[in-house]
Amino acid sequence: MVSQIPQTVRNWVAGREVDAADGATLAKLSPAEGSELCQFARSRAADVDAAVAAARGAFAEWAATTPVRRGEILRNVALAMREHRDELAHVVALETGKAPSEAAGETNAAFELGMFMAGEGTRLYGRTTTSGVPGKQASTIRQPLGVAGLIIAANTPIANVAWKVFPALICGNAAVLKAAEDTPATAWLFAKLAHQAGLPPGVLNVIQGLGEEAGAPLVSHDDVEVISFTGSTQVGRQVASVVGERLGRVSLELGGKNPLVVCDDADLEQAADWTVRSAFSNAGQRCASGSRVIIFDSVYEPFREILIAKTKALSVGPSDGDDLGPVINESQLNNMLRTLEGARAAGATILIGGERLTGERHAGGFYLAPTLVEHAKPDAEISASELFGPIACLYRVADFGEALALANDSPYGLTACIHTRSVDRALRFTQEVEAGVAVVNGGTYGSEPHMPFGGVKASGNGWREPGTEALDVYSNLKDIYLCVDFDRA
Ligand code: NAD
Repeated sequence: MVSQIPQTVRNWVAGREVDAADGATLAKLSPAEGSELCQFARSRAADVDAAVAAARGAFAEWAATTPVRRGEILRNVALAMREHRDELAHVVALETGKAPSEAAGETNAAFELGMFMAGEGTRLYGRTTTSGVPGKQASTIRQPLGVAGLIIAANTPIANVAWKVFPALICGNAAVLKAAEDTPATAWLFAKLAHQAGLPPGVLNVIQGLGEEAGAPLVSHDDVEVISFTGSTQVGRQVASVVGERLGRVSLELGGKNPLVVCDDADLEQAADWTVRSAFSNAGQRCASGSRVIIFDSVYEPFREILIAKTKALSVGPSDGDDLGPVINESQLNNMLRTLEGARAAGATILIGGERLTGERHAGGFYLAPTLVEHAKPDAEISASELFGPIACLYRVADFGEALALANDSPYGLTACIHTRSVDRALRFTQEVEAGVAVVNGGTYGSEPHMPFGGVKASGNGWREPGTEALDVYSNLKDIYLCVDFDRA
């Protein structure tokens, strides 16, 4: 039985649902139809204070709970997600406009992440190592930091919640999650399931609202030891400077403008399939989407024709059987249309797409036709800035050297992919491309729960989540030296 999104999605503080202190709310619209889906709490500093206080109050007991027990509780939370998968996926689909089957796949991935991190409760390894001093035993243990402030984007809402919450909690922190304003109900339902599954009150608190009103007070809060932020590079810079000022820890998972290189020895059909998925799945709303397609001169025309044909065949809509849905809100859509207009005016050619879809299936929704662009200059806005929508630009290069140089000619460095049959090209590309993730003969996206994900340059600040590397974000290492005298034994 699928529960409906409540009329007003409220905050979760200390295990209870509460309105914003001043009772204010905002409207959340359906991306698929443009109609109002629900209202959600418009939280401000006072609400953040209450949530941080609740987390602080729950911290000591949660930190003292053994990691094995924390893992058992978090496993129950993950299992509750699986049990309520259809309900969660339904809410994700309503809030994002993506197809229900895709939302279910995303929910499965979030469950897998939860199970992986719950298992860390039985590991949470430190090191036992050698010492230069006789009788001195050296080791490390992991200790929680305190309160974790978690801020997420809306693009894959339940996966984003899981990526932050499970690692933060398994390490023994209490958390305040600032939900994305475009997906309030997903975070709300996760908190409800976690509560029902036995997560103690206050260990996870969820605050709804806008970035500047509800996110910023969390970032600047003196009682929050670590901020983990997933969002745009522009906001990430502000977040880092505020947290840096108070010497807090900040992990940034930011934007990308990811290159996909098609060499002259590539399987063009396969490369085109991966390009379409990388550029257009989830309506291009992936930090890891492939938005710069770099093609060897000698295969440029045939590859472009295959790509246009595959793009033309895509079905756009919110249902199973559709290949991509709407973008998350109208302002993002208008930003894309404005950038495309600027690119056109600067001499770029729109090969396909480029317009808002308004037909019967799309009326009222925020749909952009999947768009391919060529002749954009590498330093033009459309080439350099992340658009977070179903838009990819094609670039022609003479050879491998030019392809690698163009792949690296970006402020971002999140993911990158090459299609080639040459092991030499594949290895050199994976070594030399400036990215946190490099793929051969696949897509620019597709990270796995046990692997570290993150970028270089403007795509992040060096931390990696998830994988066991996420534990580094959410814990402190303490060195322990035991000095023993065997002669006294
Ligand atoms: P955004 O930066 O506008 O917002 C992200 C989150 O930050 C939202 O919850 C928002 O409310 C909050 N926020 C906004 N201003 C804030 C402020 N001043 N202080 C504190 N919080 C604030 O990004 P968006 O447009 O919602 O999301 C898309 C971006 O997220 C893209 O750049 C995408 O690449 C990135 N992203 C990165 C990853 C990754 O793992 N690297 C994953 C998903 C999305």
